[in-house]
Formats: sequence, structure tokens, C-alpha cells
Amino acid sequence: MNTSNRRIYIDIDDVLSHTIARLGQLLHQHFDKRVPYEEITEFDLARSFGLEEEEVERFLEIAHEPDAIRSIALVEGARPALEGWSRAGYEIHLLTGRPPFTEDATRAWLEQHAIPHVQLDFVDKYGRAHAWGEDVEVLDLDDVRQLEFCLAVEDSLEVAVFLAAELEVEVALIDHPWNRDPSRIPDRARERIVRCRGWSEVVARFPDP
Ligand SMILES: [Mg+2]
Repeated sequence: MNTSNRRIYIDIDDVLSHTIARLGQLLHQHFDKRVPYEEITEFDLARSFGLEEEEVERFLEIAHEPDAIRSIALVEGARPALEGWSRAGYEIHLLTGRPPFTEDATRAWLEQHAIPHVQLDFVDKYGRAHAWGEDVEVLDLDDVRQLEFCLAVEDSLEVAVFLAAELEVEVALIDHPWNRDPSRIPDRARERIVRCRGWSEVVARFPDP
């Protein structure tokens, strides 16, 4: 058996964790703004939350505090799905777009929720690494291009398109308002992107990826 084909790529925010819900609470608490979930149609929080550049910086500082990360809720159905795949011999690789300085808090959260995984990587998915300092090790999308997966689970439409088109991997796209614009999915990626409304649909669609 080709072990590289038993690797499953899993994103964390808004795939395993209810990150946007926590961010919405922080937005209300610190900026006195409320943006309903259904109105978050842009992955770019500055636009979806209507924040100025310096507000975004302050907001992200608050959002990346260890306590803020540790208090994000687990998405229902995520752990049993990963446990099932692990038992069946799949390797769970977590690839997050969070900045690498959140590693300790991220690992604590994964432990707290007993999320099975063989690896956690920080990936500059959105071209933000320039803000992360130079002494940290992160992958970029070119590094990810060298990897092989039998399935990816993502919520970023841009990253899903990259994975489907460049790695030719099937992508379970967790449905959210910010990834619903079909015009942003090019034809060459379309047939590999499967929209799933939650983990029960992911497992039903990919019982044996
Ligand atoms: Mg995400």
C-alpha cells in the first residue's frame, strides 16, 4: 500500500473549530460590532467585519491570544470522523493557516479535544508570512504542492481550488457563507470539490477516501 495515499489533509479553523463564532464574540466584545454569520461572505475579515487596517491588527492580536484560542468550540462530528479514519489506517495531517506563534495554544487545544493527528504544520496559505517574523518555520503553498493526500478538508475556497487544481486531490469543502460563490471555482477544480454541510456529510461522502 502506498502510504502517501493514506494521508488526509485537515484544516483547523472553521473545519475542526468554530473559529468564526469566537471571532464574532470578540468583535462584539472589543469593537461593539455584530456581524451575523450569514453576512460573512468574504474570507477577508477586514472586509467581512468592516474593520480598518489598524483595527484588523488589533483584532488579530486579541484573536491570537492563547486564551482566545483555547476557548474556541469544537465542531460537532469532527473528532469521531478523524478517529474513524485513524482506526482505518489513515494519517491525519493538520495544515493550518494560523500564524506559527499560536503553536502552543493550538497544540493545547488539540490535546484538550483529543484530536487524533500525526502532524501539525503551519502553512502560509494566504501570503501573510512576512508579518510572522523570519525565524519561524512555515510551509508555503509550493511546499504543500510536493505533498500527496488522498483527501483534503478545507473551508477556504481559494485553498480548496489550489488543492483540487494543483494537487489533483478531492476536497471536502465545509460549507460556509464565505465559500459559496461558484464563479470563483474554475472548471479544472470543480469536479474535485465536494461541498459538505458538516462532518456527517463528509463522512457519508468519504467513508474510505
Ligand atoms: Mg479554515
